Amino acid sequence: MSVVTASRAPSSGAQASSRWHRAASQIKWRVEPFIGGSYRPSKATETFEDIDPATEAALCQVAVGDAADVDEAVRVARQRFVDGCWSELSPAKRAQVLLKFADLIAQHKDELALLDTLEMGKPIQAAVYDAEVYATKLVRTCAGFADKVVGVSGPRVGDTFSFNAYEPRGVVGAITPWNFPVYVAVIKIAPALAAGNTLVLKPSELSPSSALRLAELAIEAGVPEGVFNVVPGLGPTVGGALASHPDVNLISFTGSTTTGRKIMAMAGSSNGKPVLLEMGGKSPQVVFDDVENLDRVADAAVLSVLWNQGQVCSAHTRLVVHENVKDALVERIIDRATKHRPGDPLLDETTFGPLASPTQRDRVKRYIDQGLKDGANPVLLGEIQENGGCYVSPYVFDRVDERMSIWQEEIFGPVLCAHTFRTDEEAIALANGTEYGLVATAWTRDMGRGKRLAHRLKAGYVLIRTSGEEAPESGYPVSSEPQKASGFGSERGLRGIESYSTLKAVVMSGS
Ligand code: NAD
Repeated sequence: MSVVTASRAPSSGAQASSRWHRAASQIKWRVEPFIGGSYRPSKATETFEDIDPATEAALCQVAVGDAADVDEAVRVARQRFVDGCWSELSPAKRAQVLLKFADLIAQHKDELALLDTLEMGKPIQAAVYDAEVYATKLVRTCAGFADKVVGVSGPRVGDTFSFNAYEPRGVVGAITPWNFPVYVAVIKIAPALAAGNTLVLKPSELSPSSALRLAELAIEAGVPEGVFNVVPGLGPTVGGALASHPDVNLISFTGSTTTGRKIMAMAGSSNGKPVLLEMGGKSPQVVFDDVENLDRVADAAVLSVLWNQGQVCSAHTRLVVHENVKDALVERIIDRATKHRPGDPLLDETTFGPLASPTQRDRVKRYIDQGLKDGANPVLLGEIQENGGCYVSPYVFDRVDERMSIWQEEIFGPVLCAHTFRTDEEAIALANGTEYGLVATAWTRDMGRGKRLAHRLKAGYVLIRTSGEEAPESGYPVSSEPQKASGFGSERGLRGIESYSTLKAVVMSGS
C-alpha cells in the first residue's frame, strides 16, 4: 500500500472569525478556588499559564494551588456534610435538585463549551454536544437512580431482623483530566451528590474553568453552598493534597495509569480511603472477514480513533483485522481519515481541532518518531505543526509489531495501528495483548463467535457489531468496571451511585 500524505494543519494567523471568537473575547477569566459558594484567592503565589492550544497564546494566569486551599475546601465540605443540609435530604429531593442542575447545564451549554474549547481545543460543536447530551443525560440518569439504591433484608430469625442501609461516604475528592472537562466532571459530581456526599473537585490544570462554572450552576440549582467545591491548580500540589488528605473519605480519579497508581499509593498511606480509578486504555477494534459492511466498520474505526483528536480513553487505536479484509478496510479508513482536516476549533464546521497542549503534541510526536524508527509502515502520514497551534493530522501505521511501543502504550493522539490475524485465537491474543482493559469492539456476522468474544475479550466494556454510538443518548444507565491497568470500580448507572455510598448491614433483635 502506498503512503498517503495528509493535508496541512491550519496556520494560526489566518483564522476566520465566528460568533464564538466574539464571545471568547468577552470572557473574564477567573480561575481560583471556589469554596463554600464563593471564589477565594489561592494561598499559592506561584502561577502558571492557562494556554489556548489553537494558538498557544496564554488565556490567563492560574495559581499552582496549595495544600492549604485543599484543607480549607475539605474543612467546609466536612462541615456541610455533618450539618446534614444535603446528606439528610431525602433522595427524591436531591433528585429534584439534580434535575434542575441538568436543565441549567443544558441552558448554559454554549458557555461551558466555549470554556472547554478555548482551554483544550475541542471543536466547539463537539463541546456543545458534550454538555448538552453527555453531561445532562448523565445527571438525569443519576437523579433517576438517586432513590432506587436499595439493599437486601435477611431472613427473620426469631425476633432478629437484618437489612442493608446505603449511606453517603462523606467528603468525596474528585480528580479529573482535560479530555472531556465538563462530562468527566459530571461523571463524578452527579453520582457523588445523588448519594448524599459533599465534594471537592480538582479539575485538570489544562481545563479548570468549566468545572468552576458547574459549581456555580449547582448552587443555582439548589445544591447548598459548600457542598460542591472546586480547587484548581497543579496535579502534585492540589491533586496530591486531596488524595493524601486524612479527612477525605473516597477519591474518585480519572486520568492516566501512571497518575492513578500514585493516587492509590497516597490514598493508602494517608487514611486508607477507597479509590475509584478510571485510567488509560489501548482499545482493540477486531474485524473478522465475514463482516457484512466494511464501510460501516471504517466509519466506526475512524470515528473512534479521531474523535476528540484521538484524546479519548476508549479510543480504538489498535485495528486487529483479518488478513483477507485488511487492505480493503485500511483503504477505506485512509479515505475517511484524510477528510478530517485540522481546523480552528471555534468554527462551527470544524470536526478536528488541535491537541490539548504543546506537551501532548510533543508526546504524540515522540511516539510517531519511535514507530517510524521501529519499522512500522506509515500508510497515512499526518503532519505536526510545531508552533502557533498544537495541530496534528491523522496517522495510520500498518504492519505494526505487537512489541512496538505504538502498539502497547497509550499515545492519546490521532494515531491508528493495524495488525493482521488469521485465526480467532490469534485475534483474541492480539486484542488482549496489552496491559489495558478498558473497551474492546468486535465486528463479525457470526453471533455465536460474538458471544464467545464478549466473554473472552478482557475489557470492562465490550461492543459486538456496534460502535456504541447509541450509548450517550441513553444516559449510560449500564455501569461497567475497567479491567487490568485501566482501573477498577464502577461509575455511571445504579452501580455508580452505590460506589459513592457505603453499605451497612443492620441487625436488630428484641421485641
Ligand atoms: P493525568 O493523569 O496527567 O492527570 C489527571 C488529573 O490528575 C489531573 O487533574 C492532574 O492534575 C492530576 N494529577 C497529575 N499528577 C498528579 C499527582 N501526582 N497527584 C495527584 N493528582 C495528579 O491525565 P490527563 O493527561 O489529564 O488525561 C489523560 C489520561 O486520562 C489518559 O491516560 C486517559 O486514558 C485518561 N482518561 C481515562 C478515562 C476513563 O474513563 N478511563 C476517561 C478520560 C481520560
